[in-house]
Amino acid sequence: MEMIIAANWKMHKKTGDTAEFCRAILKDQQLFKGVEVLICPPYTSLPLAAEFLNDSSLKLGAQDLHWEQEGAFTGEIAGPMLADLGVEYVIIGHSERRHIIGESNNRIRSKVKAALEAGLKPILCVGETEAEREQGSANSVISEQLLAALEGLAPGDMEELVIAYEPVWAIGTGKAAQPGDADAACSFIREVLQNAAGPERAQKIRIQYGGSVKVDNIGSFVEFASIQGALVGGASMQPDSFSALIQAARKAVQN
Ligand code: PEP
Repeated sequence: MEMIIAANWKMHKKTGDTAEFCRAILKDQQLFKGVEVLICPPYTSLPLAAEFLNDSSLKLGAQDLHWEQEGAFTGEIAGPMLADLGVEYVIIGHSERRHIIGESNNRIRSKVKAALEAGLKPILCVGETEAEREQGSANSVISEQLLAALEGLAPGDMEELVIAYEPVWAIGTGKAAQPGDADAACSFIREVLQNAAGPERAQKIRIQYGGSVKVDNIGSFVEFASIQGALVGGASMQPDSFSALIQAARKAVQN
């Protein structure tokens, strides 16, 4: 299964920064062979990034979408608009949207459905808060988030998903999960997926770890068979560090 490493720029980078990043990262693309590399810029940079990445091996992702295909939703962006730009993936249920914007599991389910209807592949984020981990309820939170998002999906559609396990306390804090804990959580996610989609389909779903991933620790995550890539925030902002991280992941898997 090809590893998938995604850059989540969040609400950073204007068009000039996007152009600079794309120019630099594209120079290294031959060093990323065997890794699916994905850039998720803010909406305002998607058309420009699409132009740069067109004809490259790098893919384009969005950070969110609306749950309807079109309509009177001022300020929102629909899946077909993203697909029209050449966007292939869309992050759904990032913890910043769950916890800052207040998106519920039901809302996230409707977005997963909308993404699939628009022909986009959802990167569904799940993960527990620090308090939930301390209470010993991490697995129940993760399975609730997963099962809520998968409810009503045809098993065939589930194969299109990528799951990002992102413990909330590890995001943007510099405090990554212990690799063994990430392995345990991702293995648990796989079990939930197997029950929901059947073992064969579940095998096709890639699971990323996200939360303070850097060039120095990426190898310790992807060397586990349970983890097929990473969702990267801070360390994806500079082309040099992102490129080094991808190369380190590739090396760790080859070893
Ligand atoms: C993220 O944005 O999903 C993320 C994991 O951020 P960071 O790598 O900065 O922790």
